[in-house]
Amino acid sequence: MALNTQRKLVLLGATGSIGRSTIDIVEQAPQSFSIEAVAGGRDVDALAELAIRVGARFAAIRDEKLYGALKSALSGSKVEPAAGAKAVVEAALHPADIVVGAISGAAGVEPTYAALAEGRTIALANKECLVCAGGPFMRKVAEMKATILPLDSEHDALWQALGGADAKSVEKLIITASGGPFRTWSAAQIAAATREQALRHPNWSMGQKITIDSASMMNKGLELIEAHHLFGVPADRLDVLVHPQSIVHGLVAFADGSVTASLYSPDMRVPIAHCLAWPDRLKTNARRLDLAEIATLTFEKPDLARFPALGLAMDALRQGGAMPTVLNAANEIAVAAFLAGEVAFPEIARIVGEACERAARDNLAREPASIEEALAVDHIVRESSRTSLALKARSGMVTVQ
Ligand code: NAD
Ligand code: MG
Repeated sequence: MALNTQRKLVLLGATGSIGRSTIDIVEQAPQSFSIEAVAGGRDVDALAELAIRVGARFAAIRDEKLYGALKSALSGSKVEPAAGAKAVVEAALHPADIVVGAISGAAGVEPTYAALAEGRTIALANKECLVCAGGPFMRKVAEMKATILPLDSEHDALWQALGGADAKSVEKLIITASGGPFRTWSAAQIAAATREQALRHPNWSMGQKITIDSASMMNKGLELIEAHHLFGVPADRLDVLVHPQSIVHGLVAFADGSVTASLYSPDMRVPIAHCLAWPDRLKTNARRLDLAEIATLTFEKPDLARFPALGLAMDALRQGGAMPTVLNAANEIAVAAFLAGEVAFPEIARIVGEACERAARDNLAREPASIEEALAVDHIVRESSRTSLALKARSGMVTVQ
């Protein structure tokens, strides 16, 4: 079942979890897609191998120092190598029907925005783009009459469950959360969680940053902010339900009392295929849902006492302006510190909470008028979060794993 015309893709974050799942979809439907350009962060051998395999014309590695390594890994192939931040933007701007935004973190803001500013259609996995700079992104979407296809599973599910209805007219958009590896743990157990325990997600296999965000439930907070921007719905009409089976991904509650939901096996190839083929449908070999076998779907309210990161994100969404930018930047620093073994798990939410308090005090949270303003706030918060962490570490105030 091929699409009528072949779609050209650019793949930002090609070597990551979403990048590889996208390549898997493309390789199952070679008549439907070609990959023109790929970009990655540092994993140069993997990037070169993928670029050659998919027949890309251009491969960009973010780390400038890796140019030589990329060039030699691509020698004898038809792929043009490039390195550095500008090269990643160049990859994003390659002529294409869809740019898949699957870089992890706010590092994705500049290249993804550059593609949007050219009016490109973006299949967006990189939620931090919208958390860091949702206002500027959505204003550019309106200005260019561009399209963002929501690739994150909950947002893809909302899109499907809306069935063409205007999100602004519905009563509630509800996204689900698996609850992560610590869903049933006590606060004391969570406080002592190791890196390995936090990285052991029960249902999804993903990159490290989003896996830690899932353990803290910050991921669901980032997704509420993402949903606010994608669907233009205020905080009081967005909700989270914990659903450990990860079968129902999003629900739409209408004014007449009816609720529609979108269900699929926890496999990112489903929303990726939906975005890439839309408005058509592709056949995938994702596992088919057997509801009789699954038998039980359960739902519960999130516990903000054990998962304070989710509460912080909800507050940032309600406060608006650049508060989500602040939250995201501090969270990226905190997660990196946790992954490096420098701080204990509960410090993640503490670092983020303190950054939000500092930003409110310093009047840093005005709505960013542009991408540059959002990135300037992002930069300030990263620096101050690092400084505050270093000071605390020196005075023995941080608990280490
Ligand atoms: P990952 O860590 O597996 O992959 C990240 C990719 O980005 C890699 O290719 C890496 O090389 C690249 N990268 C990192 N920094 C870069 C930079 N500065 N410039 C260019 N490339 C850079 O992450 P992932 O799990 O694939 O997630 C990617 C994004 O998609 C995240 O924003 C995540 O929240 C979102 N997402 C992921 C999933 C999932 O199932 N993995 C689901 C929904 C949304
Ligand atoms: Mg998601």
